[in-house]
Amino acid sequence: MVHLYDMRSDEMAAWFEELGEPRYRARQVFEWLYQKRALTFDEMTNLPKTLRGRLSEVAEITTSREITRQVSKVDGTTKFLLGWPDDVTVETVLMRHDYGNSVCVSTQVGCKMGCTFCASTLGGMIRQMTAGEMVEQLMYSQRLLDATDERVSSVVLMGSGEPMDNYDASMKFIDIIHDPHGLNIGQRHITISTVGLVPGIIRLADEGRPITLAVSLHAPNDELRSAMMPVNKAYPIAKLMEACRYYCRKTGKRISFEYALVGGKNDRLEHARELAALLEGIPSHVNLIPVNYVPERGYERTPADQIQAFLRELKSLGVNATIRREMGHDIAAACGQLRAQYMGEGARPPRRRAGAITSGT
Ligand code: SAH
Repeated sequence: MVHLYDMRSDEMAAWFEELGEPRYRARQVFEWLYQKRALTFDEMTNLPKTLRGRLSEVAEITTSREITRQVSKVDGTTKFLLGWPDDVTVETVLMRHDYGNSVCVSTQVGCKMGCTFCASTLGGMIRQMTAGEMVEQLMYSQRLLDATDERVSSVVLMGSGEPMDNYDASMKFIDIIHDPHGLNIGQRHITISTVGLVPGIIRLADEGRPITLAVSLHAPNDELRSAMMPVNKAYPIAKLMEACRYYCRKTGKRISFEYALVGGKNDRLEHARELAALLEGIPSHVNLIPVNYVPERGYERTPADQIQAFLRELKSLGVNATIRREMGHDIAAACGQLRAQYMGEGARPPRRRAGAITSGT
């Protein structure tokens, strides 16, 4: 079966041509899929009936099912756990901000990067998500928003998985949701977050896409970063910063650096000073994230006043920094935790657990 969400419009046009159909069918189908949110071929009334019948035999629209959903009573943040026929599950999150609605998408089932504070990597990487499966994740949020006539205005590739380790599918996903005949989401409203895979950063810089790059830094020196993030052994901080400088030079854009504050690990004022020195000369913004509690990891959060002191120190050294606002703190915690919970308990619905979603601001 062909997965329609997995095709760019040019690919779909070529595919229709192969079927002996005019290329403009692709545009028609794109509009049905993304503007009218059709879920069946019967709805596509401007296609000949025989074609609709044929399409239903060779192509599919939705390939996943919703296993469970959690909605925050505090801010409407909605977390979906989706399942595919090969028994893999991923999470996607819809966050409602006053400036619009953003969706956090998972690019892999699990993750192999091994960051010591992260729930997504606990069971390793099971398989890649296809572009179409990423589109499908986004469509769950869009369909929910349709009830109130709202749209997804921004997208972050910050769910489970490492997008730079699934580069082609991640970029194809961006092409599909950016298509003017589709969802028409501006590239400036799309953020890709990486653990720091240097070849990916360089490739992205060379392609010159106007998307936003976020780099998960989390520590200001190699000793600390290698202890928290194994990837640092392959791409140490000096190499990473060199790639970041290259990216800024090539694209003229600033980079968003993520820094999860872990109690007693990376949250001292001297770390703030080290971080400021590291970022000198790089157009950047630092997102300070109070670490989300992951039961299997047992890290402590930095106390609120110490987070403020860390922020003040950064600012006094000229670093552009903010503390990331937490979303949906009354529903199951950080990325990967709903899935981890689900896998741990078999198919029973997950219990509530304190924590917060901080991905994707
Ligand atoms: N692999 C990519 C994108 C997915 S992770 C990356 O590493 O950037 C999205 C963000 O959530 C990353 O910045 C990641 O480091 C962070 N994160 C993971 N676990 C966390 C936790 N327990 N608390 C706070 N942030 C966490």
